[in-house]
Amino acid sequence: MNWIKQLFCAHNFEFVRNVYGDEIMLLGWKRSVWRCTKCSKLEDRDMLHDVTPQPESTIAAKCQRIEGSGEICGLTPPCPDCGSSLIDVPEGSL
Ligand SMILES: [Zn+2]
Ligand SMILES: [Zn+2]
Repeated sequence: MNWIKQLFCAHNFEFVRNVYGDEIMLLGWKRSVWRCTKCSKLEDRDMLHDVTPQPESTIAAKCQRIEGSGEICGLTPPCPDCGSSLIDVPEGSL
């Protein structure tokens, strides 16, 4: 009897999908569908869920300087050993 489980479940809803087009009207002007991870109860919500992926451009580029050991530095600039410059230093200019 799943409804008993749902009745006593402290629901933990996770986002399933947003509702678009005619389905909005069919679901009574709901804009998103959520499902409980514990009892699988479905819930329709009035709000659209923002599924826009977070821009990764905010993640700083890793330092590409080749260390003396031959490995790429890989730190987020400015790094203490390489200074603040992101520009590769041509060989022989040191
Ligand atoms: Zn539940
Ligand atoms: Zn570095």
